[in-house]
Amino acid sequence: MDPRAVLKHALDAHRDDLLAFARDLISIPSENPPGNGYRECGDRIRAELDRLGLAHQTVEAPGFPERPRYNFLSFHGDGPRTLYFHGHYDVVPAQSPDQFIPRIENGKLVGRGAADMKAAVAGMIYAAALLKECRVPLTGRVGLCIVADEETGGRGGSQYLDEIGLLGKDALGMLTPEPTSGTIWNANRGAITLRVTVKGKYAHVGLQHEGINAFERMLDVARALGELKGEVERRRTAYRIVPEEAAHSILMLGGRVEGGTNFNAVPEACSFTIERRFNPEEDLETEKARLFSVLERCKERGIGMEVEVLQESCSSGVSEDHPVAQALAGTVEAVVGERPRFTMCPGLLEIRWYARKGIPAFAYGPGLLEVSHGPDEAIEIEHLYRHTLIYALTAARLLA
Ligand SMILES: [Zn+2]
Repeated sequence: MDPRAVLKHALDAHRDDLLAFARDLISIPSENPPGNGYRECGDRIRAELDRLGLAHQTVEAPGFPERPRYNFLSFHGDGPRTLYFHGHYDVVPAQSPDQFIPRIENGKLVGRGAADMKAAVAGMIYAAALLKECRVPLTGRVGLCIVADEETGGRGGSQYLDEIGLLGKDALGMLTPEPTSGTIWNANRGAITLRVTVKGKYAHVGLQHEGINAFERMLDVARALGELKGEVERRRTAYRIVPEEAAHSILMLGGRVEGGTNFNAVPEACSFTIERRFNPEEDLETEKARLFSVLERCKERGIGMEVEVLQESCSSGVSEDHPVAQALAGTVEAVVGERPRFTMCPGLLEIRWYARKGIPAFAYGPGLLEVSHGPDEAIEIEHLYRHTLIYALTAARLLA
């Protein structure tokens, strides 16, 4: 049996159902923040899994009484080796309510979540269903892991599944359909976001000698960080990234700056953010310790400050020579007719949850990064079908 011909034939019979499912998901505003519509969107996902005969488990993350976070796991096949199809069904807030009314225009499905990533989640579910329907022989399982909360860091989604041991259990690999614009993302940067509030003392400008100028002190702190910036930004990743200038490690200061009350008063407090985006070759704890040691030295010099950690997450990277990477790239080449390139994702990516457990994890999706999160979010419908076939064939190849 040639799995490609069989799967393609079965997919052709389900094109309308897949498209209708993707449209339905887009029409449910699962906006995050704040985390709306998870129940409704989850119900729609479960209804489709039922319809396709895929058994499933719902895992609710605790701690969200107002807006419950539901995650779904579903497996097809037998044996412990599992290839995960991992996706999220939350979307960033819409620019206009129209985005939740999906429409088709020039062969594209238009709407919030079309590219990132409801259509592709529908595609992955259908990929598993096609393998089942066509009884493609597998030596392991395909695991669907569909999560909430990706757009806000994963606390009610992947992070929770990881905490309770349900993320990537028995995984031989993981694929997630983020909008990768035709490339495969095999790495992503980590992030540490801090807000530093430097303390001063208020005084009228005429009596400024009685005050302590928080702004001037903040400049001292920023200068000290500037030395670290100079050093870390000389580092470059060996992973491929476009454009090449983006290969440098990043320490950006002042993404948000606040302070003072008026031109004629000594500012009592000034705050600024530190955004550290480190490369896969760098380690979260080491980079965090270095930032904190600079801030500690400022404190020792008598600068009062408060430091908040707004976000932190690991970097990750998997070699493009890994057998799972090669199986994916080979399948893409067979279906698309061109070998895809591997690049590092410019942002955060859920492959990090898997990669840090030693699981080879990759993002490859039918959407374009350029339109994701934007007012014109859309996806080529043919690309959705094509990728659905690629997911099913990659599983057939890896679990042959
Ligand atoms: Zn996404």
